[in-house]
Amino acid sequence: MSEPSVILVTGGSGLVGQGIKWCIDNEPEGSRFGKKANETWIFARSSEADLRDAEQTKKLFEKYKPTHVIHLAALVGGVFANMAGNATFMRDNMLMNDNLLHTSYLQQVKKVVSCLSTCVFPDKVDYPLTEAKIHLGPPHPSNFGYSHAKRTVDIQNRAYREQYGSNFTSAIPTNVFGPADNYDLHRAHVLPALMHKCYLAKKNNTPFVVFGSGKPLRQFIYSRDLGKLFIWMLREYDDVEPVILSVGENEEVTIKEVADAIVKAMDFKGEYRFDPSKADGQYRKPASNEKLLKLMGGFEFTPFEQALKESVDWFLENYEIART
Ligand code: NDP
Repeated sequence: MSEPSVILVTGGSGLVGQGIKWCIDNEPEGSRFGKKANETWIFARSSEADLRDAEQTKKLFEKYKPTHVIHLAALVGGVFANMAGNATFMRDNMLMNDNLLHTSYLQQVKKVVSCLSTCVFPDKVDYPLTEAKIHLGPPHPSNFGYSHAKRTVDIQNRAYREQYGSNFTSAIPTNVFGPADNYDLHRAHVLPALMHKCYLAKKNNTPFVVFGSGKPLRQFIYSRDLGKLFIWMLREYDDVEPVILSVGENEEVTIKEVADAIVKAMDFKGEYRFDPSKADGQYRKPASNEKLLKLMGGFEFTPFEQALKESVDWFLENYEIART
């Protein structure tokens, strides 16, 4: 990427998009994860172009003439929203992905890195998850619409590459957290939801109650680390095969460790307990980052407690503008 490059990041206003933007704004210029002199970065939001609409997608491309695309835009929701709307989650995401990939092909974009999610994996699968296991069985029934739409991107990438030689690929992040997350208690993922609940418990002097036993294990990746990994993929990875972007299997943390770290970072001194009568979800679903580390030659992830503290500090400073 030594020629002038215009990099369009769809979903640029979201959690992951802002993680990439942070790297571009803060990493040393010219460094492996910093902005290069020949690059222009565009972070697009839905008000600029609704990617479900082919005409708006075309206009967005005509405006910026991107040479490279990181495609993050998606209709994302919690488990209840997904269960109530599998058709909507499937259609909206398929429309966005199809418009984005086909327009990229027509406009001769040099490379597209699209974002999948670990829910693309089969419900019944041997752990750890690896890149080779995506299509080995149906995804979990709760969000099958979203999962199939995401999974199809891998098929589209292969088809465009085979028929037209397009350099399309995809990344599979595990659970992401960081500044500019969605903290809406009806839609949020577990970590921002716990942050918001702890904030309200402190403000209202009520108990901080964490649903479930606190024992399940998850791999959480900091959005600013993920930003670096997307930048690496865009610049240095040229294969169609997806890459799992995650901390290692040995870096899983329990929900209790997450809640403890939030209590500490928020300096919450009130009553704090678990409610084991509420469902725990799957005990663990580890994903392997072996391929990623081998390709990159190693990567230093931000320690979990430090990343969580930075995320809590952002939430406290930006509560008025955050998605609550
Ligand atoms: P956010 O909800 O924070 O951001 C979603 C982004 O998509 C926003 O910028 C939003 O724009 C944009 N968007 C939504 N609908 C449209 C549309 N119709 N047209 C154009 N843009 C649209 O999500 P995340 O940052 O968390 O997710 C980014 C990607 O990462 C997604 O593909 C998601 O599947 C994936 N992912 C996320 C994980 C997580 O834990 N968060 C885990 C694994 C994968 P606006 O805000 O302006 O409406």
